[in-house]
Amino acid sequence: MEVRKHAILSASSSYRWLNCPPSVSLSEGVSDEVSEFALEGTDAHTLCEYKLKCALDLIDGDHHLPKLEWYSEEMEECANGYVAFVLEKIEDVKKDGKDPIVLIEQRLDYSNFVESGFGTGDCLIIADGTLHIIDYKHGRGIQVDANENSQMMLYALGALELFGFLYDINEVTMTIYQPRRSNISTFKMSSSDLYQWANNVLKPIAKLAHIGEGEFKAGDWCQFCKVKTTCRERANENMRLARLEFLDPPLLEDSEIEEILQKVDEVVEWVNDVKDFALRQAIKGKKWKGFKLVEGRSNRKYSDEEKVAKQVEQAGFNPYEMKLLGITEMQKLLGKTKFTELLDGLIVKPPGKPTLVLESDKRPEYNPAKADFMTNEEEN
Ligand code: SF4
Repeated sequence: MEVRKHAILSASSSYRWLNCPPSVSLSEGVSDEVSEFALEGTDAHTLCEYKLKCALDLIDGDHHLPKLEWYSEEMEECANGYVAFVLEKIEDVKKDGKDPIVLIEQRLDYSNFVESGFGTGDCLIIADGTLHIIDYKHGRGIQVDANENSQMMLYALGALELFGFLYDINEVTMTIYQPRRSNISTFKMSSSDLYQWANNVLKPIAKLAHIGEGEFKAGDWCQFCKVKTTCRERANENMRLARLEFLDPPLLEDSEIEEILQKVDEVVEWVNDVKDFALRQAIKGKKWKGFKLVEGRSNRKYSDEEKVAKQVEQAGFNPYEMKLLGITEMQKLLGKTKFTELLDGLIVKPPGKPTLVLESDKRPEYNPAKADFMTNEEEN
């Protein structure tokens, strides 16, 4: 499968290298394992591209769709949603009396600001002074915010470099479409502000990153760094918490617990990264002083399920249990329309378990009274 090509100072990794420029040279030569999530994302992009081109009559439906190894009904629904969203955007632009130019999977070159920098924009809509950039995200892990998102800003810059002088663009609208998180996030910026950022912030940092200079700085961007496990700066940053002196009085103060909570997720992530790395190396034969590799716990299982069922049936017992299908499986069985028709009013969403998060999190504050009320309602 063809995975999208990326520049070294790529738009998708810009959040990391803008915060930690020397991470680029430190990662040089470190191999990058392509995850299953990345392969699934590539397939989803291919499907989105194909469907959008069909919808815009740029190719006909008989056009050969590349084989999608990770195809699923969910992916199909996501791609349909994406196409509907883009078509709606195009209609909105037309309503304003503008005749838009639509570009799909457009290579965007921002090398005037970042050495050899380029990326690929999923969809660009250009009409009368405005540029819309829509980026499809298939991931469901991290919710991506378009607000001052450097990846989107680099795409926008590449698009302005390419089309700015032809279409006199003075405003850019950048949208992240992330269906598996029900997230549509949009950020607007004037092209003059974008160029100001490009000249004053981007260009100098990209220069440092290119020559392997600048300061190491650890933060949540480390999770995307190829040397995140062995990086000393990240280790130091996380060990700083362990070195905090919580001596007097014997019990921790609220303010100290708050301080720990601020950092604890990153510390746990770092510790797990180090443990994963050490285990993978040990499996490859590396000996860590004071440690050894042993077999983990395992559960009993049938070696041949068919044979087991047959033996039990022959002995006069029923080896099977009858279970209601889960919601996803049931929807697959019935199809979306029948599912809604038959089960309308029978699907509920109980309140999730309370979770402590940073105040900046976008979710509304947990309301215990509302949760109690909903639980009692369900019990009645
Ligand atoms: S792990 Fe973090 S601090 Fe270390 S080089 Fe990578 S981005 Fe920089």
